[in-house]
Amino acid sequence: MATEVLKLTAQIVISHASMSELTSTELVDEIKEVYNALASLEGGALLEGPELAKGKEVEGVKKPSIPLKDIVKEKYVVCLECGKKMRTLKAHIRKAHNLMPKEYFKRFDLDPKKYPLVCKEYSEQRRKLAVEKGLGAKRGARKAAKPA
Ligand SMILES: [Zn+2]
Repeated sequence: MATEVLKLTAQIVISHASMSELTSTELVDEIKEVYNALASLEGGALLEGPELAKGKEVEGVKKPSIPLKDIVKEKYVVCLECGKKMRTLKAHIRKAHNLMPKEYFKRFDLDPKKYPLVCKEYSEQRRKLAVEKGLGAKRGARKAAKPA
């Protein structure tokens, strides 16, 4: 990693620490803060914080720029390709990115069971609807089966 930045960080923190009394926690925080400030100026990677990096491509697998825990929510799912929020991504990824669900999962190395293409509310509704439809179909079938 950026050793220059680390050296600079150490110098700055040492000179600051010699002037003011810092607890070890404060010292660590200060090191991080100074490092991050310097690194961001230099355009390097930050020690912590959300990875807002430009999706780096590694062997065909794209690194999502959004934390995976944030992509499937109650009311929406986030498209990892463009960051759009939608209730369902199936049609979107096909139209906007020319990707089949399978390709999408592969591209971001996602587990379809963990990260479905629909929001939680939507899958819940679909589940209920399927149950209702199932019941309705049975009722309808019985009606239709009655002799006219
Ligand atoms: Zn998209």
